[in-house]
Amino acid sequence: MEDQHFDLLKCAICGKAFAQEAGKRPTCPDCLAEEEVIYRKVRNLVNTCPDRRINVAEAARRLGIEERKINYLVECGMFELAVGVGLINRQQGD
Ligand SMILES: [Zn+2]
Repeated sequence: MEDQHFDLLKCAICGKAFAQEAGKRPTCPDCLAEEEVIYRKVRNLVNTCPDRRINVAEAARRLGIEERKINYLVECGMFELAVGVGLINRQQGD
């Protein structure tokens, strides 16, 4: 039998409980678009910073985005977080 395995997760963006395929990010379907918008805003900001670096608190303040949401993108591997430095855009160029 090939049952797909689902986990009951709490959305990292809105906090709603939802079923997600095992192994996927805890972003509910309603928040996928928001996650993408946040990612682009943060990426654009990081790209304008010297050495493409900015700390999370500063990025959150400048973009008006909750810090925990930016930290979530870091946890998902979209950005790197360097100790004492802050966010680093993983992709060079673009
Ligand atoms: Zn959500």
